[in-house]
Amino acid sequence: MTVLSVKGLHKSFGGVQAVQDVSFSISAGELLALIGPNGAGKSTCFNMLNGQLRADAGEVVLLGQSLIGLAPRQIWQLGVGRTFQITATFNSMTVRENIQMALLSFHRRLMGLWRPANALYRDEAMELLARVGMADQSERPCGILAYGDLKRVELAIALANSPKLLLMDEPTAGMAPSERVALMELTARLARQDNIAVLFTEHDMDVVFAQADRIIVLDRGRLIAEGGPETVRANEQVQAVYLGSGTVFAEAH
Ligand code: ADP
Ligand code: MG
Repeated sequence: MTVLSVKGLHKSFGGVQAVQDVSFSISAGELLALIGPNGAGKSTCFNMLNGQLRADAGEVVLLGQSLIGLAPRQIWQLGVGRTFQITATFNSMTVRENIQMALLSFHRRLMGLWRPANALYRDEAMELLARVGMADQSERPCGILAYGDLKRVELAIALANSPKLLLMDEPTAGMAPSERVALMELTARLARQDNIAVLFTEHDMDVVFAQADRIIVLDRGRLIAEGGPETVRANEQVQAVYLGSGTVFAEAH
């Protein structure tokens, strides 16, 4: 089932054509990697999908509903989750309290302000923390967590909103290579369990080739390739773009 369908997306900044005629779609439970050199237009694409930027032209449709012209909060309410570029956690609260806050906000959205005062979603929070492997750290303040653990809490916060689509712009930035693979493996597992479509950008080609079901490649605002990891890796235009930018693409395995 198609969760997101993007057609003919355009955005320019003055003379810079940041995104030109980009079209793609994502299915439920699918991990789609959006890759390309710095400045290719990846973040601009993301920001048009999540409502932070207005597209100059194009269609963005989530489960039959157009997202064009909607505010970021409306898009979030329709089930588009985001990680991790802005730290979503409150340092002084415990891991569990952070998840409870996210669950409260989700349920308030569904039921309005009138909800049972005792509905603090403690058990639900613990279940989510177990799913990301953080149950044993639930009572620690978020402020003292290791960076990789904080990322897993942020993933749980995103899941608390029951997203249909998760947008992850450089989710593993700042992480050690081994941690990156682990975080994306976890994301892939949870996305498949919950049938969430995931669009992510990632510089580490090991992570991309190991975890993505499908890859789309942007170069100077245009989509130049699309397909499974093997197809994209073998694409000469893609190789040229990456070798030209100095990335050791050919060594990815
Ligand atoms: P990526 O995320 O792939 O590195 P970006 O989407 O951030 O690429 O940028 C694409 C192009 O658009 C770049 O040339 C960048 O300088 C330009 N750009 C991005 N955001 C803005 C902005 N707010 N104003 C002007 N130019 C921008
Ligand atoms: Mg970017």
